Amino acid sequence: MKVKFWGVRGSLPVPGKETVRYGGNTASLEIITENKEEILFDAGTGIYKLGKKLLNEKYTKTIHLFLTHFHWDHIQGLPFFAPFFDKDFHIKIYFYQVNGVGGRQVLESQLNPKFFPITCDIFSANVEFVAINELDEIKINGVTIKNTLNHHSAGTVSYKVIENGKSLVFMTDNELYCKKEESHPTVESMCDLNKDLVEFVKNSDALIHDTQYFEFNFSEKLGWGHSNNAAVAYFAHVSKVKNLYLFHYDPDHSDEKVDKLFNQTKDILSNELNSETEVTASYEGLEFIL
Ligand SMILES: [Zn+2]
Ligand SMILES: [Zn+2]
Repeated sequence: MKVKFWGVRGSLPVPGKETVRYGGNTASLEIITENKEEILFDAGTGIYKLGKKLLNEKYTKTIHLFLTHFHWDHIQGLPFFAPFFDKDFHIKIYFYQVNGVGGRQVLESQLNPKFFPITCDIFSANVEFVAINELDEIKINGVTIKNTLNHHSAGTVSYKVIENGKSLVFMTDNELYCKKEESHPTVESMCDLNKDLVEFVKNSDALIHDTQYFEFNFSEKLGWGHSNNAAVAYFAHVSKVKNLYLFHYDPDHSDEKVDKLFNQTKDILSNELNSETEVTASYEGLEFIL
């Protein structure tokens, strides 16, 4: 599979000279499978440019869009996704349903004339909504997609994509639990408090994980539903992940701060944990093959 990042920011788009290297757009990831299936994760503002690219490519006509949850930074680009307005496209939107609400209802409330000048009725594409449940396995032409519930607002899920024995986990908006009395994670507490997620991520080839915060001021952010860089390093290490990609950066984090976030995380993995996990700070436009 070929993977490309179109938006790596959390919470709010932050364009400008301080974010030019990592990018200011919110969550959007593209995967092109070996059978040329187009699988997208989240619809933050990064999906705007991705939509234009898909419109210009003649071969892609079916798009599988998986949403992790409906917070703004994961759906804000949706009304500007160009394939909605082309009758040749079939767009399947997968989402986790909470209390019977999700999918079309959420999109209709976003495309309400009070907030946006058009409604869903104007779409020319064939748009289909697919509600998924925990532990469902979605099969798409040689690829399997599993999910698990995150430590975040109700109904937020992570996805694991498996193709030809390789696996990638997209886990954003997730708080790795830490012991309040510990100022720094330990292997034991990481495994004990996050058993469910370690099990899901174990031995994956690539993990893309929420790294919104630094460890040093994390005590102020406990319970906010996001992770700090030390916890992410420990989590990737105990889960025996091969390649960790930092993602969902705080809007206050300039390029220099993300550099620092990356260097600290790399230092913990290499020098403190003597880990075999490699780390990369994701940025808009980064591509890799798995
Ligand atoms: Zn978010
Ligand atoms: Zn969220």
